Amino acid sequence: MDFHDTQDEASFRSEVRSFIEGELPPELRWRGGLRSGLDAGRAMYGGQASKEWRRKIAERGWTAPAWPKEYGGAGMSVTEQFIFNEEMALARAPRTGGGIAIGMAGPTIMVHGTEEQKQRFLPTMLTGEQIWCQGFSEPNAGSDLANLATTAVRDGDDYVINGQKIWTSQAQKAHWMNLLARTDNDAPKHKGISYFMVDMKSPGITVRPLFNMVGHDEFTEVFFENVRVPKGNLLGEENRGWYLATTTLDFERSNIASTTHLVLTVSDLVEWAREHANEPACALASNAKLRYELADRFVEAQIARLMSYRIISMQNAGLLPNKESSVAKLYASELEQRIALTGLKTVGTYGQLLEASETLQAARMYLYSVAMTIGGGTSEIQRNIIAMRGLGLPRG
Ligand SMILES: Cc1cc2nc3c(=O)[nH]c(=O)nc-3n(C[C@H](O)[C@H](O)[C@H](O)COP(=O)(O)OP(=O)(O)OC[C@H]3O[C@@H](n4cnc5c(N)ncnc54)[C@H](O)[C@@H]3O)c2cc1C
Repeated sequence: MDFHDTQDEASFRSEVRSFIEGELPPELRWRGGLRSGLDAGRAMYGGQASKEWRRKIAERGWTAPAWPKEYGGAGMSVTEQFIFNEEMALARAPRTGGGIAIGMAGPTIMVHGTEEQKQRFLPTMLTGEQIWCQGFSEPNAGSDLANLATTAVRDGDDYVINGQKIWTSQAQKAHWMNLLARTDNDAPKHKGISYFMVDMKSPGITVRPLFNMVGHDEFTEVFFENVRVPKGNLLGEENRGWYLATTTLDFERSNIASTTHLVLTVSDLVEWAREHANEPACALASNAKLRYELADRFVEAQIARLMSYRIISMQNAGLLPNKESSVAKLYASELEQRIALTGLKTVGTYGQLLEASETLQAARMYLYSVAMTIGGGTSEIQRNIIAMRGLGLPRG
């Protein structure tokens, strides 16, 4: 593949770069520790500075880089999105936000929504101020999502929702949820599910925080007790929700932001090890093998980045990455855990201090990185995809 930008791509890259240089306040850049992408996302919803940053991004239409211009997006090509995401990550900028709204709910409404639904939901998503959460997983429906048991029963002009969702990120802050619920108990599993937009202020919704190992209430349990959702909030046809849930736009799928974060995280770690090599806080002097480990992590982070480049070059050639995305997700998420472990070993005993910034917050990254191989499809599910679609092996 050709790694060079075309002339147009290079000029777009320098436009993004100078925008970031001119507008991104230094305090919003994530720096000084093994923070991975975690803080890049979190900082997005911080104080006034991040609000201002979001407003400037929104002004340029960059909140939704992939959305068509007619819906208020930037209408970027996959290559432009790639460049945009790469430059933002290289500058350690907080992610542009939007999350579920821009990446999932918005595109699904755009493709399957009525005109009224598009007018009602899409413009508010573009300001970057409205948070959506995704109510898919349940206690007995994760990898096997079609097993979901939350029900939606039609009653007059409403549907009445009962059931429970789990691992719902950001539900405690969210204004809206895109929810999958069962509308036909007798149909085959995939065919009795519908897709709803649910106002999180509706009576009967209880959100309980769930704390991850780092101690953050990053996700929640959400309980529905006779929650009435107007029929106008059903998206698409009843019982077709499963097929809607897989709707995406022309998004770039390289995950370049995450792999760039891995590269930067390793370079932070190396820099820290160099600076502290002769201090008791650094285990490098007493553990010669750590040098090899650090070198391995450095090489692996470059490989993860090249996997991102491979995916974008496929998309540029009009191909649809499939097993390649699973290979990249599997590799990057497991690598993040290895980097965290190497970080933890490098800072030795001090690494066990959870919030100690002088020790790179290694413990924090180590604990957080466990989730990387679960969220977005577990490693086993990725391996199944690679085995079946990639290697043509029979189902086990
Ligand atoms: C940080 C984080 C944020 C999340 N945010 C959200 C959110 O906002 N909204 C939402 O709906 N969900 C969210 N999730 C949930 C996530 O989608 C599920 O955790 C994930 O799909 C796995 O489902 P599960 O936890 O039910 O595990 P299970 O599916 O029960 O899996 C348990 C174990 O069995 C293995 N396994 C399952 N099936 C197979 C198989 N066929 N072959 C081999 N092994 C198998 C799995 O790999 C895993 O090791 C989030 C999860 C995390 C970690």
